[in-house]
Parts: sequence; structure tokens; C-alpha cells
Amino acid sequence: MHCNKGLSRYLDEMIGTGWHKDADELEKLLSFADDTKVLNKLLDIKKENKRALAAYLKETQGVEIDENSIFDIQIKRLHEYKRQQMNALYVIHKYLEIKKGKKNTTPITVIFGAKAAPAYVIAKDIIHLILCLQEIINKDSEVSPYLKVVMVENYNVTKAEKLIPACDISQQISLASKEASGTGNMKFMLNGAVTLGTMDGANVEIADLVGEKNIYIFGESSDTVIEHYEKADYVSKEYYEEDEEIKEAVDFIVSDEMMKVGQKENLERLYKELLNKDWFMTLLDYKDYAAKREECYKDYEDRMAWAKKMLVNTAKAGFFSSDRTIAEYDKDIWKL
Ligand SMILES: *Cc1c(COP(=O)(O)O)cnc(C)c1O
Repeated sequence: MHCNKGLSRYLDEMIGTGWHKDADELEKLLSFADDTKVLNKLLDIKKENKRALAAYLKETQGVEIDENSIFDIQIKRLHEYKRQQMNALYVIHKYLEIKKGKKNTTPITVIFGAKAAPAYVIAKDIIHLILCLQEIINKDSEVSPYLKVVMVENYNVTKAEKLIPACDISQQISLASKEASGTGNMKFMLNGAVTLGTMDGANVEIADLVGEKNIYIFGESSDTVIEHYEKADYVSKEYYEEDEEIKEAVDFIVSDEMMKVGQKENLERLYKELLNKDWFMTLLDYKDYAAKREECYKDYEDRMAWAKKMLVNTAKAGFFSSDRTIAEYDKDIWKL
């Protein structure tokens, strides 16, 4: 209600104000799922939020982004298990594709925001990688009309309040079995973003709630991942050697182009980490991830179908209200 006033006001108009105190009432929205007037209005509200974010980023960081592009966002603590590096590898792949002449229909803005613990060396290397990509891609006049990268500085709640209402695609790509819960994913769905994610943490519940047509799921299951750990049989180098697309993206990290804008030490360390360790199995899921992401972008073109996914996500988010959780504790445990 505080950070997405446009959507809140419209919900009030459509389904009344009961949802303010009973989030389950958001489901009333489902009766408008095929109403093109409502769907168009949801798209207008999203557009307005994207415009506001673009203005904010211009003012605070001096970056210019296209409000008509797809806002594809990953904001959360920087950790290897959350796999910002996998997102970055896809960005490299997309950059190289555009360079080769394969241009996307709707421009894409990939936004990162993350804080890292001060002594977390690889996390800092991943941030460094993203900053290098931002430098190279945004300054490349051949590519930047189609793809841009933005690292939002000093990610915090104030920034989240502006980023989440403006998001089209919510990146929730942690390695299955690693995320205890995840709450960012819930905030995004409530605000009408569609999740691209693994069957990990609360993504599992989101998938159950919205159904497979309204979420993009990829990657190995937690059972498979746990088995890899038990057998210690995951070798990232095999994925690198057997797949040209992966090899090309990973090699780009230590290319001359990157060395020109970045620090050799950081880039080489990250490159070696991915090839020799990759503890969170980035290369294992990469291909499936890239394919799903392409599917997302393709589906985004059908604006009415996309708006319907947005509507279902908002409508089903009430489940994540803490009031529901507390009521369940009371019923099952406290019996007050
Ligand atoms: C919600 C939130 C988080 C947690 O995000 P996850 O995607 O669940 O890891 C972290 N930082 C801020 C500022 C948040 O608002």
C-alpha cells in the first residue's frame, strides 16, 4: 500500500478495501482474469511504476534506461547459492548474440541489486563482473538499444520499494535445496511480477499457488542436487567443455574486452572458481535457465496473456501474509 499506490488504489476500486486487513481477499481479483479493460489497466500501472524507477535511477545514479524495455530484476544479498553469476553469464550470452546480429524484439533491462558481506571475496568478484558488463554493454551503441545492465548501488529497503513495483520478471534462481524460504519472491508476485525460478524455497509454494502457466520453473530438483553433493560427482568443467554456449560465456569473463575495463585479479579468480569448483552448480542449470528465460521474453510479447499472469500472481499472494501464518500457528500449536 505504501510503495505501490497505483496498484493499491486500483485494487480498492475493483475488489474493495477488505484486502487491506485480509490478504486472502486479493483472490477476488481472479474474477477479472479475462477482462481486457482490467488487464490493460494493470499494464498501465506497471508502466507508470517503471517510469518512476527509470526517473529515480537517472537522478540517483545517472543511468538511463528505457521504460518500454522488459525490467528483469534480481535483487537480494549477493551469495553464490543465489547465483547472480548465472544471471550474469546469460547477460554475456545475450550480449554476444546481439553482437552477432541476433536482436531481441523488445529491449531488455537487466537490473541487479545486492549487498555482500565485507570479507566475501567471490561475492565481490561477482559484483565486479556485473559492473564490468554494465560498462561494456551500456557503452556499446550497437547493443545498448537492445540490452542494458544496471547495478543498483547500495541495495536496501528504500530501493526495494521502487524496484519491486516496477518489475516484470523476478529472478529467483537459487540452487534447489539451498534457500530456506525467500521473501523477495513474495513481494514481487504481490506487485504483479512473474517469477523465473528454481523449485527452491518459497518458489515451490508460489508455483503451487499460481499454477505452471503463471510461473517459469527450470533447473534440477533438490533431490538431484543433494545426490550430486553426496556422490561428489558434479564437475563443472565437463559442462564447460561440452557446450559451446557455456564455454563462450565463461571465457568472456577473462577476455581482452573485460580486462580493459576490469581488474585481472577479480576476473581470473571468478573464472577459475566457475571452472574448478562451482560449488553451487551454476553450469549444471545454465542451459535450462537460458531456455526458460528466452521463453519468458517470448511470452512477454503477448501483452494480454502476460497481464493475466500478473493478475493471477497478485491475486494469489495473500497466502504469504504473516497474519495467515500466525493464525495457523494458533490453530495448530498455540491454541489460544
Ligand atoms: C526482501 C528483502 C531481502 C530478502 O530478499 P530474498 O530475495 O528473499 O533473499 C533482502 N534485502 C531487502 C532490502 C529486502 O527488501
